[in-house]
Amino acid sequence: MHYSALQILKQGLTGNKGWKPVWREPKPKSAYDFIIVGGGGHGLATAYYLAEEFKQANIAVLEKGWIGSGNVGRNTTIVRSNYLLPENTPFYEMSLKLWENLEQDFNYNAMMSQRGILNLFHSDGERDAAARRGNAMVLSDADAVLLDREGVRKMCPFLDFDNERFPIKGGLLQPRAGTARHDAVAWGYARGADRCGVDIIQNCEVTGFQIENGVCSGVETTKGNIKANKVGVCVAGSSSRVMALAGMRLPIETHVLQAFVTEGLKPVIPGVVTFGAGHLYISQSDKGGLVFGGDIDKYNSYAQRGNLPVIEHVAEEMMAMMPMLGRARLLRSWGGVMDMSMDGSPFIDKTHIGGLYFNGGWCYGGFKATPASGMCYAHLLATDTPHPNATAFRLDRFRHGIIIDEKGQGAQPNQH
Ligand SMILES: Cc1cc2nc3c(=O)[nH]c(=O)nc-3n(C[C@H](O)[C@H](O)[C@H](O)COP(=O)(O)OP(=O)(O)OC[C@H]3O[C@@H](n4cnc5c(N)ncnc54)[C@H](O)[C@@H]3O)c2cc1C
Repeated sequence: MHYSALQILKQGLTGNKGWKPVWREPKPKSAYDFIIVGGGGHGLATAYYLAEEFKQANIAVLEKGWIGSGNVGRNTTIVRSNYLLPENTPFYEMSLKLWENLEQDFNYNAMMSQRGILNLFHSDGERDAAARRGNAMVLSDADAVLLDREGVRKMCPFLDFDNERFPIKGGLLQPRAGTARHDAVAWGYARGADRCGVDIIQNCEVTGFQIENGVCSGVETTKGNIKANKVGVCVAGSSSRVMALAGMRLPIETHVLQAFVTEGLKPVIPGVVTFGAGHLYISQSDKGGLVFGGDIDKYNSYAQRGNLPVIEHVAEEMMAMMPMLGRARLLRSWGGVMDMSMDGSPFIDKTHIGGLYFNGGWCYGGFKATPASGMCYAHLLATDTPHPNATAFRLDRFRHGIIIDEKGQGAQPNQH
């Protein structure tokens, strides 16, 4: 069924009885050409582009929980391409361009809203870094505007410009960045993939890989064994645990990241704003709640819940930037588990095991990457060659010292 204004009218006039489930609930077959392990945003996007773009068939996505239960439905919804390093910029700009047509592409309203992201800076050194990043963005076909203090004041007059410790000196604006409704992105990709014939199997945990003579020929699951020509793992915060089932140890640690939402307020924040002297990002949802987050909880954990010190830390940063929010009430908070790689950058690569592929290490920035990650992983799975925009995301880059240290913080996953 094609969603359109006409369809809404038609269904409304006929008692809304004709809507179909957004995707089917098929039983797993005994064999597929492609199995994608993990039904998060990246897994679903991969399956969608495998079928839609690369014209592959006989594909299944195996998800241990339900669609949207992982990070794809837990993030703070920020979409941007304000990267610095040449290994990253074409990839993230490709992703943003895919976001711009995504809703028409999979025919689902993901509430993509390009309301801009403003990264504040508070010192002359930070201004230099912002100018350099902005120049790199423009060179990679992205958009960037360096604002001085008065430019920022026009956009966000409510900020504390003369904070004693963190005076605001300006900001780097990416006008095409913004937010998208996270769970609708998962549903949209699931619907698109299902429409192309992909079997989406929920409540189906992969518990092992069938590997013989260095070749993977299928998976063991809670719904039985399933054969596959190619298996693509895409399980975000569970990467280390799942790849350990194939005997692999990854340069990844898992940490919790929390998100917070206040009570609904009248429109106050025009886009996404980030605090440059610490780590805080905030936007306002269409319902009015302020959606914000900061650093990960700095201990390793697979629990999808966080701890109080980070809440205090994030609230303090918010007060330093926007003291008028001190009286807003926090309504909800939750956590997701992040696959933090040792240089803060991801992997889209073959493994040393034939037929087994890996996508992960997205840290806490993988939502914006969802379309490009799906497209590039599908390219790798379909053609056995890396997509030109994802050639650097190799598993062996640490062995060769070719790390992609976007934040300049080295091998400290808790800092990325
Ligand atoms: C609080 C928070 C805020 C964030 N904010 C942003 C943001 O603003 N912008 C941004 O770009 N990124 C953000 N991120 C990061 C982003 O959400 C993730 O990087 C991205 O969603 C990870 O990819 P995914 O969607 O495929 O992950 P997931 O949705 O986690 O998908 C992985 C799936 O694999 C499944 N799985 C695990 N093990 C197995 C198994 N054995 N068998 C079968 N299935 C399995 C899981 O159940 C899960 O559904 C944030 C994350 C969090 C938690």
